[in-house]
Amino acid sequence: MNADSLVRATAGDGGVRCMAAVTTNLVAEAVARHQTSPTVAAALGRTLTGTLLLGAGLKELDRLTVQLVCDGPVGGITAEANARGEVRGYARNPAANPDLNGNGKFDVSSVVGTGMFYVTHESGYEIGLYTDPYRGAVPIVSGEIGEDFAYYLAKSEQIPSAVTLGVYMRARVDGSTYAEAAGGLMIQVMPGADEGIIEAIEDSIGRGPHTTTLIREGARPVDLLRAALGSIPLEVLEEKRVSFACTCSHERAVSLISSIDRAELETILREDKGAAMTCHFCNETYRLGEATLEDILAVRG
Ligand code: ZN
Repeated sequence: MNADSLVRATAGDGGVRCMAAVTTNLVAEAVARHQTSPTVAAALGRTLTGTLLLGAGLKELDRLTVQLVCDGPVGGITAEANARGEVRGYARNPAANPDLNGNGKFDVSSVVGTGMFYVTHESGYEIGLYTDPYRGAVPIVSGEIGEDFAYYLAKSEQIPSAVTLGVYMRARVDGSTYAEAAGGLMIQVMPGADEGIIEAIEDSIGRGPHTTTLIREGARPVDLLRAALGSIPLEVLEEKRVSFACTCSHERAVSLISSIDRAELETILREDKGAAMTCHFCNETYRLGEATLEDILAVRG
């Protein structure tokens, strides 16, 4: 299996910004960590991929968060990406709605429902140089995720875009499923460039094979862009690795529990003989035993 990667490129004399990513491994990891239903796997995988693509131009110390606050069974999806190509994310109800829709495809728009699509851009948070975050919000127009990213770009950032995001889930013999292919692309037309190019690209995407079909055949991100752009020449600017990565750790769990009230900590120690904390983003559980809690209390004096 090829490593996950993301490509940034330009086309149309620099007036068209292109991003594409193959995210099979990181989506498979997210799906396994959160034990999602196949439909939620598709929704979460598309959101993780879209967030990486939207954050392709992030600078060091930048962080981009995409959040779907929605009324469908999934209840909400959050994904966060940084400049190192790391992404993490979760769905509020990972086991929601395992049904197929009439076409035999996972019904992502039904599991999402309606609601709001939020994008938050923060900078400097890791070194305490926190500036005011930039926030954008649009209603969820489709729930298929790719169209929602395109709508956000068009309405909130005035950038006409074509976005395709896909996750191909495959069943094992025992009936469980896994992500066999995932990826997507985002093509943005900058102000002054020919907006008709988006129609040409959407037409070419519509006639061509599905993104995940190409990935299953071994396509790399640049191949996805070539398929979408047809005869329009492109220039690759950067290719980087992307991965699922979380910022949680045992140390952070300790520091988190150290910040709670002394009386509460004593109760936890007396009644539970320890504490367990699970990270929303990656579903990792940190167990702090009696000795650790006693140490924390001793240090506090
Ligand atoms: Zn975590």
